[in-house]
Order: sequence, then structure tokens, then C-alpha cells
Amino acid sequence: DLRSWQSGLRAQFPIIAGHPDLAYLDSAATAQKPQAVLDAVTEYLTTGNANAGRGTYPWANRTTARIQDAEQRVRRFLGDPEPDRSGVHFVSGTTEGLRLIARDWLAGHLRDGDEIIVPYADHSANTLPWQEVVDLLGRQGIRVGVRAMPYDPARDYDHRALAGMVGQRTRFIATTHVHHVYGGDMNIGRIRAAAGPGAVICLDAAQGVGHLPLSVAGLDVDFVVFSGHKVMALPGTGAIWSANRRGPVFAPGGWSGTPNTSGIVSLVAALDWLEAAGLERIARWTVALGARLTDGLRRLPAYQVLGCQRSLAAGSPVQQRHGIVTFRHRGIGSNDLGFILASEGFMVRADGHCQAEGGEETTSVRVSVHVYNTVDEIDRLLELLTSLN
Ligand code: PMP
Repeated sequence: DLRSWQSGLRAQFPIIAGHPDLAYLDSAATAQKPQAVLDAVTEYLTTGNANAGRGTYPWANRTTARIQDAEQRVRRFLGDPEPDRSGVHFVSGTTEGLRLIARDWLAGHLRDGDEIIVPYADHSANTLPWQEVVDLLGRQGIRVGVRAMPYDPARDYDHRALAGMVGQRTRFIATTHVHHVYGGDMNIGRIRAAAGPGAVICLDAAQGVGHLPLSVAGLDVDFVVFSGHKVMALPGTGAIWSANRRGPVFAPGGWSGTPNTSGIVSLVAALDWLEAAGLERIARWTVALGARLTDGLRRLPAYQVLGCQRSLAAGSPVQQRHGIVTFRHRGIGSNDLGFILASEGFMVRADGHCQAEGGEETTSVRVSVHVYNTVDEIDRLLELLTSLN
């Protein structure tokens, strides 16, 4: 059953197993690493570490092959139906990936009078680069219109309003897979229909990949970007996937410098581990933990849970929270609450959350789980939060 499956997986995380008195509840910031990922890095560094791309000896050739295999691994993981022609480009993370798309692709494809749509309530890594490109082009006399992505009260995209906003000159739409504050699945499957056939769609999948199945087959998006460290690989890794119809957006291989070889090895091991664990079951587990916490908090009047309210307008699809629950206490400041939780061994994020919208007053406490977290951890957290109610 799900519980014994989960405890078998949890035991594979040395940092978790080694600290039974602590609860790591900040996986949206970065995920912990299973032993298999640590082993893969050690194996690579102790048996075949070399630079890639230009060697004449076995370690170098094997490193080159491993990186090429890693590109295929990313395509397979994303369910790419046409892996021969799509692009995979390794980057240091989602922030760099989105910035690269902005500067090296979008800037060269916008013309005077074009429009783009930017999701200002999403992570600033997915708003600032697009705005920068528009400003840059503006200084060259190329005027690009920026429209704000519309949201509904549940903080899902308002797909109907989006459809009304898209016009002949809409060239580019930035979107997010799972929201990093509200945890909602942004219903990316409905984006292409709302966007129409003409606009390029870029998907920030930093909080989705590794948490729930994501298949680009049928999604009809143009770019997908994610971070390795959030999918249990080492920091400093990540990938841009680009649809085959875009052609080679970034140089294939792209190895003008030294790639993050050991990081890419860790990424392959992490994707292998996640796939073997089963993304459907991982999603079921983390959604259940998030729902348990949300339901518990809703019974405590001192707390306000942000986003994803269930009082949705008729006809709106109900959003699932993918293991991310963000809330405020009506009397205790979020930073103070964060310190209280930390003193009891609960590692959560208490802060603003890199959103372009809002300001200082929007600080809140974010609890985010992955497959290694347990029902017991959520119940103990709720017990403490109840004592502060
Ligand atoms: N987008 C989203 C939705 C995120 O949650 C994050 C990380 N908090 C980022 C982008 C940036 O990722 P990274 O720090 O790995 O570049």
C-alpha cells in the first residue's frame, strides 16, 4: 500500500533518516537527495571524471556520451514524442533557463507592435526576464506591449479572459506548471486552447517536474524549463526543453565551455529514481499531505490559507495543491511564526515568495512537501499550530 511504499522511499534519504527529530518541509525551495543520486555522483567522480566534448581517451569519451544520454533522458522524462528533433539545453536552473530564453530567443523574435503576456502573480524568475527584454527593445525603438496574465479568484489562470486577451500580435505567453506559493496545478493542458495557435508558450515547470507526471505530448507548449535541485539532483543543474518545431534554439550540446558534468550525472540519477518511484504515486502522496494540512488549518480561525479557495465560481475546475500550502497567522507575524516552527524542528519557509505582485505585507509561511514527508510530520505540525491558534 501507499504507506509502506512511502516508508521504503523515505529510508533512502540519508539526511532525512539521520534526523528523525526534524521535519524538512521546504522542498519547494530545494529537494533532498536520495542515496542513489549521491552514489551516482561518487561513482562518476571516482571512476571516470573528465571534461566533455573533445577528449581522445575513455573517460572523456564516456563523459561526452553521458551528457548526450542525459539529453535523451530529459526528453524521455518529459514524454517527448519526437525526441529526434526537440532541443535539450542544460542550464544552471530555472532562473538561468528563463533568462536565456528571454535574451537569446525572445529578444530576436519580437517586432514593433507585438504583444506578450506575463504572469505577474507567479515567480519573479518568470516575470522579470520578459520585462527586461521589453525594456531593452524599447530602448532600441521597438515597442512591445505587455499584458498581465489574468487570474481567477482561486489563483488559477483565467483561461476565458486569456482567450479574450490574445490577439493577432500576441507572440509569447509565459506560464507556470505548479504555483510556488499556492501549490495549484495551473491547468496547463488548457493553455494552448486559450492562447490560440500563434503564440509561443513557455512553461516554468520548476515546481511541477518531479512532483507529478508532466508529458509534453499533446500539451503543445514550446519551451519547458526546470531546476535539477528541486528534482533531487545537485544544485547548478537544470534544463530547457524546446519543441521540435522551434528548431535548434540553442546550440546542440552547447559545450563551448565545461558543462556541469557531475551535476548532469546527478540529474540523470534523480530522474531515474523519480520515475522508478512513480510520479503518479508521488503526486497522490504529496497532494494528500497538502490536503491534510489545508483541512487542518481551515479548522483553526487564527490562520488564513492563501489561494486555491474551494469557493470557486461554478464551472471552474477544482485545483489540486501539489504539496505546497501557504498561510498566515492573523496575530503572529510570519517571520516570528517561522522562528517558532524552527525552534520545534520544523523547517519551513517564512518570507515573501519572489512574487512580482504584492509587497512587504505579503509575507507568509510556506510548507512544502515531497515524497519523503509523512502524515505524522503534518499532524505534529498541526498540533503545534493548533497550540498557537
Ligand atoms: N520558478 C518557480 C515556480 C520557482 O518556484 C522557482 C524556485 N523557487 C524558480 C522559478 C527559480 O528556480 P531556481 O532558483 O532553481 O533558478
